[in-house]
Amino acid sequence: MKEERAIDLVIIGAGAAGLTASIYAVRAKLDTIVLENEIVGGQIKNSYSVENFPGFDVISGDELASKMENHALKLGVDINEFGYIKSVKLTDEEKIIETDDVIYKAKAVIIATGAKPRELPVPEEKDLHGKVIHYCELCDGALYDGKDIVVVGGGNSAIEAATYLTRYAKSITIVHQFDTLQAEKSDQDELFKHKNVNVIWNSEIRNVVGDNKIEKIIIENVKTGEKSDIHSDGIFVYIGYVPKADIVKDYVTLNKWGYIEADENMGTNVKGVFVAGDVRDKKIRQLTTAVSDGTIAALNAEKYISGGR
Ligand SMILES: Cc1cc2nc3c(=O)[nH]c(=O)nc-3n(C[C@H](O)[C@H](O)[C@H](O)COP(=O)(O)OP(=O)(O)OC[C@H]3O[C@@H](n4cnc5c(N)ncnc54)[C@H](O)[C@@H]3O)c2cc1C
Repeated sequence: MKEERAIDLVIIGAGAAGLTASIYAVRAKLDTIVLENEIVGGQIKNSYSVENFPGFDVISGDELASKMENHALKLGVDINEFGYIKSVKLTDEEKIIETDDVIYKAKAVIIATGAKPRELPVPEEKDLHGKVIHYCELCDGALYDGKDIVVVGGGNSAIEAATYLTRYAKSITIVHQFDTLQAEKSDQDELFKHKNVNVIWNSEIRNVVGDNKIEKIIIENVKTGEKSDIHSDGIFVYIGYVPKADIVKDYVTLNKWGYIEADENMGTNVKGVFVAGDVRDKKIRQLTTAVSDGTIAALNAEKYISGGR
């Protein structure tokens, strides 16, 4: 039979928001577990350089995430990495979270499940995902040493990724749906120091033809409707994010894009269920806002558990 464990707080997700929440929760003496179904650290592990987190003028995302994890572990936070949540039930006072081997009966829950990259909307995505269509330059960039790369998107992530990929690529072609880049000017300046970068404006990829290798990429100019072919060895996609709220979507209120709504205390529509980080309905999704959310959620969870909310 499965182990049942009564606990004060379950935190779902060990990114910046969840880890921060765990630090505050453990310091408030809450019996806490953090459940993480992938790698501890979350999205920031994929950033090769973070330059806006106070206290570190420049640090790799991987190192910053490790520092957060070690900080939590040092305080005695219990983190279950690669733990798969089979089901949740959040309707009653006692919240049930069932993993492969334990049924947690929690007084409060913090959802800190973050977001994942939006997939390239082409019919071939599923077949080519991981073969020639990629979402993580740190993970897959080295496969394209001396090759031609297309980067899709014009925001900070796309431009930061393109800059990183210049170390490998023979050429970088950015395909962007608008006629200006949205990325910070300083990041754009950094990218265009490299001579082998060009941009195709007002365009979207419609098809990627090929099997294990790209034969051609069909793009459409969204202003003129004109289609043309371009050639490349690989495609790296940065066209936004989608929230990871699936496991709780039957319980908490989501906005029309699927982000979880919350009040200023990070409380959701369900008493005892809080949300923190990128999965929350908010305008600015950064590390500093994730750690802020994590702080507020944990302190309010503690208040709720001790009868204050
Ligand atoms: C390439 C890149 C560069 C960035 N650069 C910067 C930067 O320089 N500065 C900055 O401030 N921000 C940056 N950001 C944004 C920043 O990383 C995010 O705002 C921040 O990581 C959000 O933290 P989070 O904890 O809310 O979510 P995440 O980091 O997404 O963490 C959520 C965690 O929850 C886990 N999870 C999801 N679903 C489940 C489930 N069902 N069960 C268990 N666990 C689950 C995920 O695996 C993940 O580990 C960058 C993001 C990217 C992708």
